[in-house]
Amino acid sequence: MPCYSSDKLNELVMEAKKYTAQGKVADYIPALKKENPNDLSIAIFHSDGKCISAGEVEKKITLQSISKVLTLALALMDCGEKRVFEKVGYEPTGDPFNSIVKLELYNPSKPLNPMINAGALAVTSMIKGSSINDRLERIRAFVQRLAGGQQLSYSEEVARSEFETAYLNRALCYFMMEHKIIEENVEELLELYTKQCAIEMNCLDLARIGLVFAMNGEDPFTKEQLIPKDIVRICKTFMVTCGMYNAAGEFAVRIGIPAKSGVSGGIMGVVPNRFGIGIFGPALDEKGNSIAGLKLLEMLSEQYSLSIF
Ligand code: GLN
Repeated sequence: MPCYSSDKLNELVMEAKKYTAQGKVADYIPALKKENPNDLSIAIFHSDGKCISAGEVEKKITLQSISKVLTLALALMDCGEKRVFEKVGYEPTGDPFNSIVKLELYNPSKPLNPMINAGALAVTSMIKGSSINDRLERIRAFVQRLAGGQQLSYSEEVARSEFETAYLNRALCYFMMEHKIIEENVEELLELYTKQCAIEMNCLDLARIGLVFAMNGEDPFTKEQLIPKDIVRICKTFMVTCGMYNAAGEFAVRIGIPAKSGVSGGIMGVVPNRFGIGIFGPALDEKGNSIAGLKLLEMLSEQYSLSIF
């Protein structure tokens, strides 16, 4: 599918780029440090097949937390709503994505929602398969289908870098093991989770996945229903309430579309029934969202009335 560079989008990217200087590339995963903080690119995929872009849209990024919404969809397809929400809640936390403090809030204990790390780890533990490799392959193949079918893989380097330093995620897992939310080997689960987070793609792929969510789970080109409509509705709701971590409220007011960010600087945006958006801008604000990516989305939302509210 061709994607055309747009002058108007280029102008907005240049304007938003000014904000990259106020952000910082994530460094708690050592391999992410290498990104250029000044990068900013965007692709917008329309349901009629048109795609417009600006910046270096071919550049690959790892999904990081954006993968959480994709594994949520797959876990719901694998296990059903009842079982998934026995293990994770529905509520936003208002805390950073890796926070541990509210894990004891529910009785019996469970993570508040599937978009924080604890919830996402619990969700990944529900992905079916005969081995870690088989489960990873199921996630990878599912993501690849959503992205339109071209070959996707994960970055071994980023996965290993996170695996070696994931002390907090290990702590979250052991806490959840104590409470029977996770019932598998923690090192194996972390291997699967860090590889899932390290799945690589470019902004075009990300926009293409966003489009499938925008079209309620249907691939607008093949007309195949890739995710059941009800499951897409659940995912989009979590994107609105928890997709931007503890900035989800302000994001809903200022931009107002379902979206999911990751610490690699990616943002996947979903404009219902219209288009999917993929953004990459690795300089992050203090909450871990792409600082220039947010500005860019804000300008787009304002100029083209994208808010769903
Ligand atoms: N892999 C990252 C982690 O678990 C994802 C976090 C994120 O993108 N916010 O820390």
